[in-house]
Amino acid sequence: MTQTKAATVEFRGLRREFGTTIALDGLDLTVRPGEFLALLGPSGCGKTTALRMLAGFEHPDAGQVLVDGEDVTRVPAHRRDAGMVFQSYSLFPHLSALDNVAFGLRMRKVRTAERRARAGELLELVGLADKGERFPHQLSGGQQQRIALARALALRPRVLLLDEPLSALDAKVRLTLREEIRRLQQELGITTLFVTHDQEEALSVADRVAVMNAGRLEQCAEPAELYGRPATAFVAEFVGTMSRIPGVLVGGDVEVLGQRLPVDGPMPDTTEVDVLVRPEAVRLHADSAGDARVVATAFLGAVVRLTVRLADGTEVKADLPAHEAAGLGAGTAVRLSLPERPVLVAERTS
Ligand code: ATP
Repeated sequence: MTQTKAATVEFRGLRREFGTTIALDGLDLTVRPGEFLALLGPSGCGKTTALRMLAGFEHPDAGQVLVDGEDVTRVPAHRRDAGMVFQSYSLFPHLSALDNVAFGLRMRKVRTAERRARAGELLELVGLADKGERFPHQLSGGQQQRIALARALALRPRVLLLDEPLSALDAKVRLTLREEIRRLQQELGITTLFVTHDQEEALSVADRVAVMNAGRLEQCAEPAELYGRPATAFVAEFVGTMSRIPGVLVGGDVEVLGQRLPVDGPMPDTTEVDVLVRPEAVRLHADSAGDARVVATAFLGAVVRLTVRLADGTEVKADLPAHEAAGLGAGTAVRLSLPERPVLVAERTS
């Protein structure tokens, strides 16, 4: 199926207030042509508001939305050329799957034969060619969301907007469908903005992930960079698991757990800091003279996650392969070390 040329989307200084709530506080973000960009952040950070502004359902108090350099901020939704899929399936219940997909084409007065052919092609694309005559209530949640996706793509939109499209589905369907959406997006090369609050989902499917916090962009980067080199403590702690261990800055290094490690990235003004470390970076061994204690263990499949309490009460997570974790049950005295440089050093919070 042919697709129109991939579009560039730019949000420039978007601001939106709802009464006393600031939903967007100067959002700047560019989505590259053909890119799958995930907007990630905690509830209420403004993700949906940003997406709705691109769709034309919401208007900014200040700032601009540009598509391929053209200012569309004041262009009404029906002329935006965006396909949208929502969390709730939002299909027309009285129309068959095929007619749901063909609905937009009918509104555009596309002739019956052509519209049925195009809708059929789309049903095939989402793997439901044999379900065209079914009504929404005769389809599973995952199938309904595929129909919604086919409907969003029917008008060959310049951008595809996905607002938590997988949230209502059970875990297994979520996984398959997110992979299918990604495959389809790559096949069509359509610029896609995907709103989610699920970091694993964002990291696994997106080309880049934009992390938002309180109406602003914290960082936009490829998944590996976001995880390995977060720009701020907020990103570091929102994406993946992170522990904070008290440390002291000495020159360009940090002293932590009796070690001196080099520090990358931004340095806080204070010398008393928290050192942010990932569970897979923590080394740990049983040591009866150690002043840290294992307080909990959780089996996670490939690894066992240990929670260790240091003498000062700090809790640190450490992931170990199952054979290394055997014998390190709750109560075991251990010693910790950090073989790598920490992910980030941040202002101390406690
Ligand atoms: P969630 O993940 O919970 O959907 P979100 O990041 O998508 O959150 P938004 O829906 O963009 O967040 O909302 C941002 C803020 O603006 C929230 O505090 C929300 O309550 C508020 N808000 C959004 N729309 C409206 C509205 N129409 N009227 C009043 N407040 C609104």
